[in-house]
Order: sequence, then C-alpha cells, then structure tokens
Amino acid sequence: MHNKHSWAEPYKIKMIEPIVMTTKEFRQKALKEAGYNTFLLRSKDVYIDLLTDSGTSAMSDRQWAGIMMGDEAYAGSRNFYHLEKTIQDYYSYKYIVPTHQGRAAEHMLSQILIKKGDYVPGNMYFTTTKLHQEMAGGTFVDIIVDEAHDPDSLYKFKGDVDLNKLQKLIDKVGAEKIPYVSIASTVNMAGGQPMSMANLKALRQLTNKYGIKIMHDMTRIAENAFMIQLNEEGYADKTVSEIVYEFNLLTDGATMSAKKDALVNIGGFLAVNDYDTFDKARNMVVVYEGLHTYGGMAGRDMEALAIGIKESVQDDHIRARVGQVFYLGQKLLDMGVPIVKPVGTHGVFLDAKAFLPHVSQDKFPAQSLAAELYLDSGVRAMERGVVSAGRNKKTGEHNYPKLELVRLTIPRRVYTQAHMDVIAESVQRVFEKRDSINGMKMIYEPEYLRFFQARFEKL
Ligand SMILES: *Cc1c(COP(=O)(O)O)cnc(C)c1O
Repeated sequence: MHNKHSWAEPYKIKMIEPIVMTTKEFRQKALKEAGYNTFLLRSKDVYIDLLTDSGTSAMSDRQWAGIMMGDEAYAGSRNFYHLEKTIQDYYSYKYIVPTHQGRAAEHMLSQILIKKGDYVPGNMYFTTTKLHQEMAGGTFVDIIVDEAHDPDSLYKFKGDVDLNKLQKLIDKVGAEKIPYVSIASTVNMAGGQPMSMANLKALRQLTNKYGIKIMHDMTRIAENAFMIQLNEEGYADKTVSEIVYEFNLLTDGATMSAKKDALVNIGGFLAVNDYDTFDKARNMVVVYEGLHTYGGMAGRDMEALAIGIKESVQDDHIRARVGQVFYLGQKLLDMGVPIVKPVGTHGVFLDAKAFLPHVSQDKFPAQSLAAELYLDSGVRAMERGVVSAGRNKKTGEHNYPKLELVRLTIPRRVYTQAHMDVIAESVQRVFEKRDSINGMKMIYEPEYLRFFQARFEKL
C-alpha cells in the first residue's frame, strides 16, 4: 500500500522564511572570521543549513494552533495530560516525566538506575547518553554489530546489537552489574542506521533470561520504524505507527529528544513502565527541571509536541522525510561521491578520507571539506571526524577515529527537492576540485568538546 505513489510531501507551504544567497567573496570573509569552523558561522550568513536535524523542523499549522492553546498553569496543565495520553497511545509507555530536552531525561534515568561500577552496554554510543552513564559511575560498552563500523558494508540493519558481545559481557561481569541495555533507534553515530525488530526480539529474550532491562533512546523511532517497514520481512503491510508501538512494547522505558522525529523545536521526556522508577524520576525532576506536569517545557510546547508525535508516525510523512534524504544520497552516489552506505535516515555522511585521500587525518580532511562546501555554495555541514574525536587523555595525541565524516543533516519539512539538487551540485563541484584542497592547521583549541569552538587556518 505504501508504494502506490512517489514520496512527494503530504503538505503544502503556507508561510516562508527568506534565506540569503551570498557571493563567494562574502563567504570567503565570513569563513575566515569563523576560523574555518562551520559552528562559528552566523546562521544569517548560511544559505542551506545542514548542521543538524535537532530542533530545526518546521511545525505544521496544527502545531502552531496548539501553541495558542497553551495552558500555562503551574500545576496540572491540560497540555500535560494531552501529551501523557499521546505518549501512552502512540508510544505504549505508561508513566511520563516531561523534560526540556533529551539529555535531561538521560540524566535522571542514569542517576536512578546506574550504580558505581556498573556496565551499560549499548548499540554504539551517543555523546550525551554516554556522558550521563559515566557521570553516574557506569562504564559504557559497545555491543553493536561490527558492520556498523564499516562505511562500505551494505548491511541493512547496522543498528543491530551483537548478542554474542552482550553474552560475553554478562559472563564476564555478571548480570547484576548490568542495570539495563541502552538501545537507540536509529543509531546516529553510525550514520543514522536502523535496528531490526527481529534483533530487538532476540535481545528481549536474552535480557529476560537475566532480568536485565532495555532502555530505549527513541529520538528517531519513526525513521527506524519506516526502515523496518521498508526492509524487514513481515512488516511491509503494517503501518509505521503500528511498528513504532510494537518496537516500544519490547522495551522497558525510553528517553526522548523530541527535537528530532517528534517535530518540535524544543522538548523531551522520560517514559517508563515501572512505577518505582517513575516515582523516583517524578521526584527528581522537581530538583532539576520543574514540576512533574511540565518538566522543562511551557504548556504550549507540550501541546505542540503532542500534535507533533501524532504527525510524525503517519506513513506519508515519514516516507517523504526519509525519501528526501535518500534522494540526496542517491544523487551523490550517482555522481561517484564517496558516502557512508546504506544512506542513513536523517542525513547523508560524506566519507572525507575517500573524498580527500591526499589529505592526512592530522590535517583535518572532514573539517576542510565542510569549509570548502560552505565557500562553494553557502551550504553548512558538520565535521564528524578527528576534531570531534578530541585528544587521548593520557598521551595528549589526537584520537584518530576510523570514520572521518562530513554530515549533511536534513531538517524535517524545511527544504525542497530543488535545495537537494543545489546541495548535490555543490558537493560535486568541490569533488571535482578536490586535488586543490590541502587540509588545515588548528590555531586555537578549547579544552572541552573542541569541535564547537576550535579555529583553523588553510594550508
Ligand atoms: C540529540 C540526541 C540526544 C540528546 O538530546 P537533546 O535533546 O539534544 O538533549 C540523545 N540521543 C540521540 C540519539 C540524539 O540524537
């Protein structure tokens, strides 16, 4: 049923936000002032902004109408009960604690469930998730399938857990040292790769045997469900909404950054099925975020989120969203540009090592490529390579990650197919002149999360 027509957007445009087209001279100057770091560019100087898909979605007229229906009562806001019911009906979880965004939910979950000396296995890591697990005294262990680390592997569910890796960890440290398995749908750091239902079912069986919980980072659950519908046997005739529900039912609770799939600019929540964890979180949220019926959100934001959740799991919406990302990915593949395969659901990742084989990793190929792309067309991308990986704490040397990538992240419902064409053409122009790109030297390096504020000079 979902193959009846092409992936055209199931909406039309009612309001527009002008963006500026700049000259090359202008961009040259702006880039120099930003120290050749796309994080330091001003948004007003960017033509097409692919820095992130977080909080950058366009809301619908229904969501904006919801904003006007905000009930800003300090306690017991009507919008909270709408949000709570929506999460129960669409996501299956019983108890909900709203937060200002995803990391606040991660903080509470980690503090409540992790004890010092515990291990938290996960399907690769996410920056904030892992940090909160470590701050609670836990040690993160990567149990994702090996294929996830290989940009050329065409494996369809690179977000899958390797059950042997989990079994080995259980045998080594004991199940009582593992409070939960942390799974993400989809896996951001692997390039937006999905986890299969079959793998989650097998994981559920194994964890049940040992009484280990499964906690779900459901930031991109709709995109993951769409990939299950598209590629997993037995799911072609189920709706994305049904698949989302079934997936969540196999887990014990979730943290959500609503700034991604749920189509809002700010928001998040912790959702769990056991009352004890809920009770602790509800008590903790008043210390860090706000009363348990608003967390860190205004009433209007909870209303927009409740509506956004319902829109996000509609088949036509998610097909168009992922379809647009695939369109850009396919275009780049046809041009012979090296990218991570299969194309992810929220962005296309350029393989900077293959793109600029003559630039050694200590000359920051991905950073250089992101800078050249902005210079060429005003398209802003993000480095995910040696700069993001930081330095080894003991030796002080750069960490050299296997994947040296430039992420072209596509905001939801924001850009058109013509924008995708412009992006692809710009990448192609930079690809054609790649021999003239010589890498960069870092001239300023902050101590923490250096990728945000580091400055560079061209070589
Ligand atoms: C963005 C993100 C988070 C953190 O959420 P925030 O809303 O930015 O705090 C956690 N996990 C994943 C997979 C994310 O993409």
